[in-house]
Amino acid sequence: MNYDSVTHTVSDRLLGHFPSGRDVSVTVHRYEGGDGPTVFVQAAQHGIELNGPAALRRVHDRLVDAEVAGTVVAVPVTNPLAFDHRSYLTPEAYDAFHSNFNRIWPGDADGSFQERLVANLWPLVEESDAAVDLHTGMPEMLEHVRFSRGDDDARALAAAFGTEYLLADDDLVDDDEFSGKFRLAAAQAGVPAITAELSNSRTVARPAVRSGVEGVWNVLRELDVVDEPVEPTSGQRVLSDDVPPVVAEQSGLFELRPDLAVSDTVAADEELGAVYDPSSFERLETITASGAGVLYSVSRGGVVVTGERIASIAADS
Ligand SMILES: [Zn+2]
Repeated sequence: MNYDSVTHTVSDRLLGHFPSGRDVSVTVHRYEGGDGPTVFVQAAQHGIELNGPAALRRVHDRLVDAEVAGTVVAVPVTNPLAFDHRSYLTPEAYDAFHSNFNRIWPGDADGSFQERLVANLWPLVEESDAAVDLHTGMPEMLEHVRFSRGDDDARALAAAFGTEYLLADDDLVDDDEFSGKFRLAAAQAGVPAITAELSNSRTVARPAVRSGVEGVWNVLRELDVVDEPVEPTSGQRVLSDDVPPVVAEQSGLFELRPDLAVSDTVAADEELGAVYDPSSFERLETITASGAGVLYSVSRGGVVVTGERIASIAADS
């Protein structure tokens, strides 16, 4: 490894054009040091996930004064269409076929509007040696990093990132069931990738930002891009995302059992709450755990419609 002072450059990468003729572009920061791996980091594929960009601003402050071996490429706002619209999904007006930016990787030069945008961003990912995708979840979600079971390189990055919980999933990477998620497309291209789910969408939450900064920095430590040892997170738990989601069968007003919160361990079929008819006051449905494990994401209460996810449970592995 050859550590050298960082040279920082910033550029706009043209992804496409709005109907008005204006550019659709993303800002790309490049931090280059001595010889070493290239690490790609992006945030805000979903427009309300703000702690990623806030974390990357702080990572920038550290990186510009650092000595590194390799290159860090950072895209703080990957999906400006959703970000500027302040919505999770991309406004339908831009792409009626694909509202979720994280289901269209690695893009398609002959595809829909968004698929073409992604296709123009993809080369940055493909030429990297590792990738980190920063997301945030609902307020009631355990901060975690996702990796694909069996991908040992990604698992090492996930462990280094340093959240207390890691989530291993079996998302398929074969063509038949390919979901278009960034992490899986990167893995298919031979680039180990992790998805960090920081807490709290819609706001800049300091603890989540801190986790993001430390997490990205820990990944750089793990890959020896910065010459610092990784400090392992004590008591880190790997959960297995193979319990089906808990969904509402009835539309109505959901209330969570008041003593329950994320990180609680629940038993299969344990009562989690109930759905009520807000007009007649009738109790429509008792919501129960779809399996045993740790409650890692749950709605505290609110309007639900039939089929909507209320909670997610992951088993200890
Ligand atoms: Zn997201």
